[in-house]
Amino acid sequence: MASIKSVCVYCGSSDKVRPVYLELAEALGEELAAREVRMIYGGGGIGLMGAAARAAHEAGGQVLGVIPEFLLAKERMYDAVEHRVVQTMHERKQIMFDESDAFIVAPGGIGTLEEAVETLSWMRLGLHRKPMAFLSTDGYWAPFFDLIDHIVAGDFTPAQFRDLIIDARSPEEALSALEASAAVAEEAEGIPY
Ligand code: AMP
Repeated sequence: MASIKSVCVYCGSSDKVRPVYLELAEALGEELAAREVRMIYGGGGIGLMGAAARAAHEAGGQVLGVIPEFLLAKERMYDAVEHRVVQTMHERKQIMFDESDAFIVAPGGIGTLEEAVETLSWMRLGLHRKPMAFLSTDGYWAPFFDLIDHIVAGDFTPAQFRDLIIDARSPEEALSALEASAAVAEEAEGIPY
């Protein structure tokens, strides 16, 4: 059975969000550490990014942050963990992708959405079979799943693709579903293009 050793976390950088989101990010960081899964993320010390990374690190987990130089101050790089400073957003995303076996998308904004959708689009193109879970306790991502259903209903994307995207209500559920999905992906045929 495939085993997930590193998970890339895409999540928001805003500090202004409701505490429930920051608490979810902390719970995610703690769960990754408890499972000895390395957390790969965007390197910031703010918002859900900072909350998840701090929680994972303080619980004894391994964390890698990847941050472009021009965001060092803006996203207040969390330097208590291993980090790489790169030049461009593209380099950041490529390293985050390469270092990870799977992805968790916690609540976030445009940046989070962009990262998640790019990785999903690479999956759609058959470039990888690393599983992805969207995580929220309050249906934060429901409008995103509605959009995917709308796209499937319009025959722009096959329904099998929707079935690959995990909708998780807790960090435990997300990680267990990613493990199961990675094991299935090893056996599965690709989705018809
Ligand atoms: P947000 O969800 O907008 O708070 O952004 C979350 C993270 O995504 C932040 O670290 C942003 O710097 C990052 N981000 C935003 N746009 C991009 C992009 N085009 N490529 C890579 N990372 C991005």
